[in-house]
Amino acid sequence: MRRATPVAPLDVREVEAFDTETDVLVVGYGCAGAAAALEATAAGRDVTILERASGGGGSSALSGGEMYLGGGTPVQAACGFEDSADDMEAYLLAALGPDADAEKVGLYARESLDHYRWLVEHGVPFKPSLWDSPTWVPPTDDGLMWLGENAWPYTEIARPAPRGHRVTSEGFGGKVLMAKLIDAVSHTPADVHTDTYATRLIVDGERVVGAVGRRYGTDHYYRAGAVVLTTGGFADNSDMVAEHAPQLVGLGVNSDGSDDGRGILMAQAVRAAVRHMSAGQVGISLVPGMMVRGMIVNHVGQRFLNEDVYPGLVGQAALYGQKLRVWVILDEKAYEEVPENERWGVQPHVVAETLAELEQQIGMPEGALETTVGEYNRHAANGEDPYFHKAARWLRPLEPPFAAIDVRRGMTPPEDGGADGGAAVFTIGGLRTTVDGHVLDLDGAPIPGLFAAGRATSGLHAWGYVSGTSLGDGTYFGRRAGVAAADQ
Ligand SMILES: Cc1cc2nc3c(=O)[nH]c(=O)nc-3n(C[C@H](O)[C@H](O)[C@H](O)COP(=O)(O)OP(=O)(O)OC[C@H]3O[C@@H](n4cnc5c(N)ncnc54)[C@H](O)[C@@H]3O)c2cc1C
Repeated sequence: MRRATPVAPLDVREVEAFDTETDVLVVGYGCAGAAAALEATAAGRDVTILERASGGGGSSALSGGEMYLGGGTPVQAACGFEDSADDMEAYLLAALGPDADAEKVGLYARESLDHYRWLVEHGVPFKPSLWDSPTWVPPTDDGLMWLGENAWPYTEIARPAPRGHRVTSEGFGGKVLMAKLIDAVSHTPADVHTDTYATRLIVDGERVVGAVGRRYGTDHYYRAGAVVLTTGGFADNSDMVAEHAPQLVGLGVNSDGSDDGRGILMAQAVRAAVRHMSAGQVGISLVPGMMVRGMIVNHVGQRFLNEDVYPGLVGQAALYGQKLRVWVILDEKAYEEVPENERWGVQPHVVAETLAELEQQIGMPEGALETTVGEYNRHAANGEDPYFHKAARWLRPLEPPFAAIDVRRGMTPPEDGGADGGAAVFTIGGLRTTVDGHVLDLDGAPIPGLFAAGRATSGLHAWGYVSGTSLGDGTYFGRRAGVAAADQ
């Protein structure tokens, strides 16, 4: 299928006149773009930001505002936790792997404390109090949360410490993060050109020297010393998702609707390499507080992991390993222990006095659930889970009446418009970059003049995902890309 708007690069000799000349052109004004612009202006460069929407924010502004930070931040210390960069690195390599970007992960962990300070200096607030229960987004303004660090097998890989730093906000904190970063940018000389959709790069031989931006139907030509692509992922481009990440097709999308992959395509058109394009964050449609007090089973009634890991990892295991044919099984007490404001509207789909009735109503093989729950209860009575090592805190024999929740029926999280098909997803693969944000070509060489950060790149991750690594990775590597682009 031929593209309506070509993505192939434009030769500089075909440009009659440039409308704008700038040192650093940042394309996309989410968290990564804002961070890049702040560092490039701090380095004394002229910066122009192109944003297709009428203002900055992107998916970053809709997000939970959880940032993965550690190594002994003041928030961790105030909550009584010791942490080290080595433990943070070891956890991230395990949770984001296999084949997480070791160089990026190591640097990110070592510089996390500095990055925390940079965020605070730019006005981003974090409250020194802990939310101590599995959840997607706490309903309070607590500033610290666990993101699976205290769950097996990670407890054997790294000393556990909570590293989910939440931007202070009731509920979702992304809007506060972006308000602070946009405010910081507004105090710099950076120009922001909104309603401007970058369509293609401009090249002079091998070198990227600008971009074309379409505003209200007219093309504008930008000449730049360096271009930084911070355009987000491609979850909203159904053709790209079908091509690269087919297991995500048909699921809800977690984004602001502008993740059309254009930045990735523009870079690919100048021979950029990509990485892990099939990987996805899977926001599975369940309430973690219910799952951890009960269990998650597949369509034949078998558990497949410990329910206290970061719920995004549950989502990936459920989608990629079980095709999302999964049920949360719990008892009345477990359901009622989850406060109303943390249930996100989820109610049991099937209830029964006996497990035999429950499995029959769900359509599981006879005896499947009875066996699983029987084994679970036998060991839970001793505070043990020899199958998957769920922490003793969450272990208790389940008692009648029982309930089951069909994950594929979805739920409606506050503020995010709801998920369908059992999960809301976004892509985590993207452009291959160095730790300084240089976009690499198919031969592994930096493409002169081209940088990228945020979800347009493959970032820290390989296959796995824990919350906070998009805003954390996006701002941190956005900053590095801004510094390097300013140096061009
Ligand atoms: C509901 C929800 C909750 C989330 N919670 C968390 C969380 O708590 N922690 C976490 O780490 N991550 C979270 N995420 C993921 C995270 O928000 C994103 O991965 C991250 O914000 C991406 O940042 P970015 O700067 O790369 O892209 P974005 O913030 O999406 O910014 C990209 C910008 O580029 C613009 N743009 C795109 N293409 C073009 C173009 N061609 N020309 C001009 N402009 C363009 C877009 O309009 C957008 O403003 C969540 C996401 C959602 C939707």
